[in-house]
Amino acid sequence: MIILKILIVSKNIVNITMFFSFYSIITIGDFMGKLIIISGPSGVGKGTIINKLKKIYQDNNKNLYVSVSYTTREKRKNEREGIDYYFISLEEFVKKINENGLLEYNQYGTGKYYGTPKDKIFDYLDNGYDVILEIDVNGFIKVREQGIDFTSIFIAPPSINDLEERLRTRNTETEEVINKRLLEARRELASMNLYDNIIYNENDRIDDTVDSVLKVINEKKYVK
Ligand code: 5GP
Repeated sequence: MIILKILIVSKNIVNITMFFSFYSIITIGDFMGKLIIISGPSGVGKGTIINKLKKIYQDNNKNLYVSVSYTTREKRKNEREGIDYYFISLEEFVKKINENGLLEYNQYGTGKYYGTPKDKIFDYLDNGYDVILEIDVNGFIKVREQGIDFTSIFIAPPSINDLEERLRTRNTETEEVINKRLLEARRELASMNLYDNIIYNENDRIDDTVDSVLKVINEKKYVK
């Protein structure tokens, strides 16, 4: 009798667990907005593309949130706190990790840390915003491991030489950092086949690149 009772109780626990896991399956990915991951080597033009996307969404009264990451790297001259990044110390970054405040994070080839704040992303998706994460390949792999529904776009340069030239004319980094970024770029290019979409950002064809990115976003269904 006692054994039977235990069985019934444990069966209910199993049912409750099944109910909750089913519930979480139907709610994960059940967002009103689309999650888009954009990666590509440093200097390929991701920033320009994303700025153009922001403008297009605005002109069409559509909602877009571009996630602002935490980073431990130094701020560049033209960058703004809280708009381009939250520039924080290594100690603050470690605190974010310990508080479980990051969706993913990575130590980039330059030795600096970058991480995506977790909370805002799901709030925006729930409220019908499309959300862009501009993160590196390692970050993309970490988000993918979490089973979250998104579409991924890799922006590729016409060639590694073009990329080097763009990095040098940008003139924002020392020679040492440029070389580290080029090394990282080669690694990232070797992983581009992991992405759902690869879009080449040809020289002087930025509007075509943006059109291709928009096409991918528009084709993405809300729930997989
Ligand atoms: P940069 O220093 O040029 O702004 O960024 C260096 C690299 O870090 C770029 O590939 C950029 O996409 C990536 N990155 C920026 N924010 C994040 C983030 O939150 N997580 C990860 N994993 N990578 C990021």
